[in-house]
Amino acid sequence: MQKIVQTTCPYCGTGCGIDLIVENGRIVDAKPTENHHVNDGELCLKGMFGWEFVNSPKRLTKPMMRKLNGEFNKEGKLEEVSFEEVYEFLGKTFKNSVEKYGPSSIMGFSSARSNNEDNYVFQKFFRALGSNNVDHCARL
Ligand code: SF4
Repeated sequence: MQKIVQTTCPYCGTGCGIDLIVENGRIVDAKPTENHHVNDGELCLKGMFGWEFVNSPKRLTKPMMRKLNGEFNKEGKLEEVSFEEVYEFLGKTFKNSVEKYGPSSIMGFSSARSNNEDNYVFQKFFRALGSNNVDHCARL
């Protein structure tokens, strides 16, 4: 069964309206929202075709961390870890950095491939920690 889910393109700040065509719980196509106050039936290539990653089997589904001898190490190999381990590691790392260098020492870098609601919560989280250093890959 097919349904249309009207949403906002996450790729840039323009805010074009997209109608996602969803079939059996999977996105199969995207069309510009007709009579939308921003894009009025038009989409650029990113909005028109940029949804295909959603169903990619290459997407990460579990957290990964670089480790060497069981500890985080930037030179280590990527290993699958639990969410609990990542939360604990990030909590300690952020706390240490904020205590030692102040809240501006941390930053968050999000993704255009997250939905707008997740990106909103993400920036709120960093602001609650006292940092306004938040960005997103659409500006690269
Ligand atoms: S469709 Fe293109 S111009 Fe519109 S919001 Fe998406 S990336 Fe920006």
